[in-house]
Amino acid sequence: MADWNHETDSCSFGAIDIGRVVDMAAGGFPASMLYPDATPEEITALSQRFGPMHINPESLELYLSFHAYIIKTENHTILVDACIGDGKDRPGRDMWNNRSGPFLDNLTRQGVTPDDIDFVMCTHLHADHVGWNTKKVNGEWVPTFANAQYLFAEREYKFWEECQAKSDDPIMYGSHADSVLPVMKSGQALLIEGNHEIATGLNTEPAYGHTPGNMVLHVGEAAKTHAVICGDVMHHPVQLAHPEWSTCFCEDAQESRETRTGLLDRFAGSDTFILPAHFQSPGYGPVEKDGHGFRMKDGIGEK
Ligand SMILES: [Zn+2]
Repeated sequence: MADWNHETDSCSFGAIDIGRVVDMAAGGFPASMLYPDATPEEITALSQRFGPMHINPESLELYLSFHAYIIKTENHTILVDACIGDGKDRPGRDMWNNRSGPFLDNLTRQGVTPDDIDFVMCTHLHADHVGWNTKKVNGEWVPTFANAQYLFAEREYKFWEECQAKSDDPIMYGSHADSVLPVMKSGQALLIEGNHEIATGLNTEPAYGHTPGNMVLHVGEAAKTHAVICGDVMHHPVQLAHPEWSTCFCEDAQESRETRTGLLDRFAGSDTFILPAHFQSPGYGPVEKDGHGFRMKDGIGEK
């Protein structure tokens, strides 16, 4: 079975390496806002299980990491999700507004420069998954990864285009305008179907619900060593215990619930690594059934 190296924050899956690239280590969200179905009593009980790194036992704030994954195969370097980004105006979201984070340094730590990246795959087009798609040069937002083809689900892109067409204000705190449209304009974007083979051993799959075109990425061969980069199918470890809880950010709470439960059921008890976009380290690994819900094998991510 694969074994995550916490010193290098990376792991080998056969001939493919996956590393984590952190943009923001811990952002706090009130549990009552993030999970409308959860009661304070349930969150308090889960704070005992997961510890203060994941849940503040007094304020009941839930801590989310914002990170990308970098995949290195023999022939390609692929970035999955582009986090929050630097210097972006995000009115209404103070945590992300005009910030400067360690993303590029952490990319270097994984032995990768922006120009090395062949593909950028966004699991979906929310502001915290597209930010580093672009950087500001001479007052203009241009693709950060000059040699990359950017992969967006067509269904996802079209949904947000329609939302923008119906709105007088910039959608998603402005990220569609400064982090998606400049990539489209540059000609570096490819709109893909939900099921798409990026390269051998790298396959996207639809995982609708959180957003209408949300995707996960399978890395490696399912029959052998295998990982699933699952984006926002889950946001926080409390959803292992309560897979029925969808977040306030899910476009379709019921579809998100079904997708999440289906994914966890499918890989429970296997060696497949589940790699979410927002679990704090070391909250990623294989999962197994645990009563009503699930847990990471060996209690990974629990105190
Ligand atoms: Zn997210």
